[in-house]
Amino acid sequence: MTLPDKTGHFGEFGGRFVPETLMALLDDLERVFYSLKSDKEFKKEFAFYLREYADRPTNLYLAERLSRHLKTLKVYLKREDLLHTGAHKINNTLGQVLVAKRMKKERIIAETGAGQHGVATATAAALMGLRCEIYMGVEDMERQALNVFRMRLLGAKVNPVTSGSQTLKDAMNEAIRDWVTNVQNTFYIIGSVAGPHPYPVMVRDFQAVIGQEARRQFLKKEKKLPDYLVACVGGGSNAMGLFHAFFHDAGVRMIGVEAAGRGLNSDEHSASILKGEIGVLHGSKSSILQTKDGQIKVAHSIAAGLDYPGVGPEHAYYQKSGRADYVAVTDQEALEGLKLLSQSEGIIPALESSHAVIYLEKLARKTTSAKNVIVCLSGRGDKDVGALKDLIY
Ligand SMILES: *Cc1c(COP(=O)(O)O)cnc(C)c1O
Repeated sequence: MTLPDKTGHFGEFGGRFVPETLMALLDDLERVFYSLKSDKEFKKEFAFYLREYADRPTNLYLAERLSRHLKTLKVYLKREDLLHTGAHKINNTLGQVLVAKRMKKERIIAETGAGQHGVATATAAALMGLRCEIYMGVEDMERQALNVFRMRLLGAKVNPVTSGSQTLKDAMNEAIRDWVTNVQNTFYIIGSVAGPHPYPVMVRDFQAVIGQEARRQFLKKEKKLPDYLVACVGGGSNAMGLFHAFFHDAGVRMIGVEAAGRGLNSDEHSASILKGEIGVLHGSKSSILQTKDGQIKVAHSIAAGLDYPGVGPEHAYYQKSGRADYVAVTDQEALEGLKLLSQSEGIIPALESSHAVIYLEKLARKTTSAKNVIVCLSGRGDKDVGALKDLIY
């Protein structure tokens, strides 16, 4: 059984909830995407850019001092932080610009909250010589001024969004509005395993290289499969990227770590799976954070890349079917995770990835015999150190 089904559903989740004018375009994208899956030239081209430009394969690194600290867990880090631009997002934007080129689109748009997807998109667009416009809430533009500057340096136009809460969800609406108006020449790059079909499956397949490499590397080093996979979950692309290649390995437990922010019982978190309800966001059905009357809530996390009020439909399905477990750690715990990895291994992780790191302490306490874990280190922490100076010491 391979999911999604023909209508883009993962069980009851997924699908396509968009304005009528986009349906034909999504049909077109779906057709092109599925034909490219078996297109040797395309696969060669994508592999080329992943290898020569992004610097894949990334290492699977045995974190010995961290493992000693955790006692019961032997931890391998999948080093997505070593990629060009410093995080896994580049895997996906490279894949999507190549699809855009195949579809003869000359203009790329995207929305961004923290700016990381905007930067990864602007990077890939610059590489391919495509025009690029990024939608970003003005509130976010102020908080993430450095990323706005980066996008502009990379040649992208950053369009300030002044509607609503002036953050990610409003930027998302503006990007979709632009897309509806300019479908002829414009390709919309979505940054996680979310959005209307075929985006969740397309982004998953582009990120699946993480797990394909990790599985091969782990088998080579340990001559068996790992017991656990651990990854942080915002929209869910680095986690699904790691998990997917292990889907049929029933003995491998998968754990997605959401952002509990100021606490799961506060109203300031981004735990769309643990605290969400079924609803429609960003063109597909999933577990989302919404008010009683169906308004999308503003999500919070200390990690800018995790504060998305929804989650990819495949994760909602994994939770419901029991294929993966979902947990959450707070802002405060994530800061501990950042220090822990920095001081045990000399690797400063992104605040997003720090959620996965600190969950290992909880997992280690629950574990009685020795177990092997692969953790997705989705990004490096350089982008966060400025904001952290006041918080940690
Ligand atoms: C954006 C981002 C995330 C969250 O996105 P996912 O789609 O859940 O992977 C996690 N880590 C880093 C470093 C990011 O930039």
